[in-house]
Amino acid sequence: MTYDIVIKNGTVIDPSQGLHARKDIAVAGGKVAAIEDSIPDKDTHDVIEADGLIVTPGLVDLHVHVWWGVAHLAVEADPACVYRGVTTAIDAGSSGANTIAGFNRYVMEQAHTRIMAFLHISGMGQLDNEIGELQDIRWARVDKAVEAAKLHADRIVGIKVRLTDNIVGDNDVVAIKRASEAAKEIGKPLMIHIGGTVHPLEELLPVLRSGDIITHSFTGNTNGILDSNNRVKDVARDAAQRGVIFDVGHGAGSFSFDVQEKAIVDGFWPGTVSSDVHRYNIRGPVYDLMTALSKYLYLGLTLDEVIALGTTKPARAVGLNEHIGTLQVGADADISIIELREGPVTLTDARGATRQGRQLLVPVETLRAGRRFSPQHSVHPHLTGHGHSH
Ligand SMILES: [Zn+2]
Repeated sequence: MTYDIVIKNGTVIDPSQGLHARKDIAVAGGKVAAIEDSIPDKDTHDVIEADGLIVTPGLVDLHVHVWWGVAHLAVEADPACVYRGVTTAIDAGSSGANTIAGFNRYVMEQAHTRIMAFLHISGMGQLDNEIGELQDIRWARVDKAVEAAKLHADRIVGIKVRLTDNIVGDNDVVAIKRASEAAKEIGKPLMIHIGGTVHPLEELLPVLRSGDIITHSFTGNTNGILDSNNRVKDVARDAAQRGVIFDVGHGAGSFSFDVQEKAIVDGFWPGTVSSDVHRYNIRGPVYDLMTALSKYLYLGLTLDEVIALGTTKPARAVGLNEHIGTLQVGADADISIIELREGPVTLTDARGATRQGRQLLVPVETLRAGRRFSPQHSVHPHLTGHGHSH
C-alpha cells in the first residue's frame, strides 16, 4: 500500500480508543488510513520518524481568540494553533451576530487550523478592552444571536457570555439568562466566563444546564469556586453533578495555581483544559495549549489524562468527538507529534505565582488533514530559565 505519510515508531496516545502503545500511523488522502504495530514505509511519499516522541490526536483548544484585527485581544490563528499542535481551535466569543460573517470569510475559511466558535451573545463580540461588550445590555439580543448561529451552524458550537463587572457592569444576571435562552434555542451549549462578577455564583450557575461550560473555573478573582474556608462551593458542586463542564481557560488573569491546588485537595479537577490564548498572554504566562496542559502534569495527572483533557474531552464538550480529538481510522489526519521534555521548567500562573515543574510538552510537528506544520519556535526561554537571551 502506498501512503502519503507514515509516522514511524512514536508512542501513540489516543484516549478515544484507550490506546497507549508504540505504533505506526499511516495517512492517505488527508485521513488516518491505518494504525499498526509496524507499517512498511518503502513506497511512502513521506516518513516522519517519531521515535522517542508522543503521537496524539490533534489537540483541541476549547477557548482561543483568533478574530485578528477585529477583536481587540485576538492573535493570528495558525501561528498560535496549528503550528503549536492545536488542529481545532474554538474561538470563545470574539465574534457576535454583527461580525460572524466576516470572521467566517476572513479567518475561518482562510486558516489552516480548523476554527469553530462560540458566538458571543453580544452582537459586537469583543471589540474593545475598555468599553465592555455588555455594559449596554441592548447588545445582547437573543433573536439576532439565534439567527446568526443558525446561518453559520457549521461553525458555531454554542453561545458565549463574559460576566466580569468591567465587561457587563451589573448586567451579569440578565446577560447569562439571555445567553442561555439563545443556547437553548439552537440546542448547543452555553459557555460562561466567571470571576470578578457583581453577583455571586449562587445567582449565576443555577441557570446552567447539563453540557454547558464554565471557563476560567480556577480564577483567583472574586466570586470564584472556593468559599472562605477554601472548599469548593456547593453551587459549583451541584453544577458539576448535573453535568456542567468546568474548563480551565487559563488566560492572562484567570488561572490560579493556588485555587486549583485547593480545589484538588477538595477532589475537584477540570473537565477540559483550554488556553484562552490571546494577545495579552501569548508571550506568557500562557504561550500555548501544551504549556497549559503541562501544568496539569505538574499538578499530578498522568500523561494520558492530560492528553484527554486537551483532545477527547473538549471534542466531546462541543459534540464533535466522532470527527476530531481521535485517531480512529477514517478520521481526518489531525495529529500532534509532541516531545515530553524532561528537565526543570518554570510554570507561571495568571497571577504571577510560579511552580517548578519537571516536564514540558513541546510541539514538534503537526498534521492537519494530512498537511505538515512545524512550530516556528520551540520553547519560550522564560519557561526553561534562560531569560531573554537566545
Ligand atoms: Zn477568553
